[in-house]
Amino acid sequence: MKLLEDRIRQDGRVLGTEVLKVDTFLNHQIDPELMAEIGAEFGRLFADKKIDKILTVESSGIAPAVFTGWVLHVPVVFARKNKSLTLPDDVWSANVYSFTKQATNHIMIDRRFLKADENVLLIDDFLANGQAIEGLLSIAQQAEAKVVGVGIVIEKTFQKGRKILDERGIKVESLARIKSFDDGNVFFL
Ligand code: 5GP
Repeated sequence: MKLLEDRIRQDGRVLGTEVLKVDTFLNHQIDPELMAEIGAEFGRLFADKKIDKILTVESSGIAPAVFTGWVLHVPVVFARKNKSLTLPDDVWSANVYSFTKQATNHIMIDRRFLKADENVLLIDDFLANGQAIEGLLSIAQQAEAKVVGVGIVIEKTFQKGRKILDERGIKVESLARIKSFDDGNVFFL
């Protein structure tokens, strides 16, 4: 998606050799117009699928997921990372290791919001080593829901996430695919 690649070139900051900071439009400050375009693009890419619901992980997956849900007219459920007092014990859950935070999060979805045989689209901001998406896949499996595809805003192809999902035969659509970072510059596939 050219608009997104241009925005990454313009505003992205490369940290070290593996991390891209995009807090001016996606991870902290959010650009709603860009998110609307992202939602429209995911809507087009998954138009041929029957989708009942979108799943994502808080917090950075929520913006692209909501705009996609708006386009596809389906609800969006985000996995919560911290157990709150208002969350019942009846949850589907998984452990997700975050390499950017170097910590394991326990992610949870209330069982009322994910049922057997629902067709779900998974959306996330980044695909790196695939841990977040694997956590959502595990939750979908526990609920006996059917994952129809994965939509990723920014994929880093040099990390192992895509390979894991390809091996599982899952349809993955990424709007920007980064093959490398070099000297602070971003190179797309
Ligand atoms: P994975 O689980 O695929 O290893 O990593 C995906 C999660 O880690 C994303 O939800 C995102 O929050 C975070 N992440 C991974 N790589 C990056 C990155 O380069 N930049 C930012 N801002 N977040 C990342």
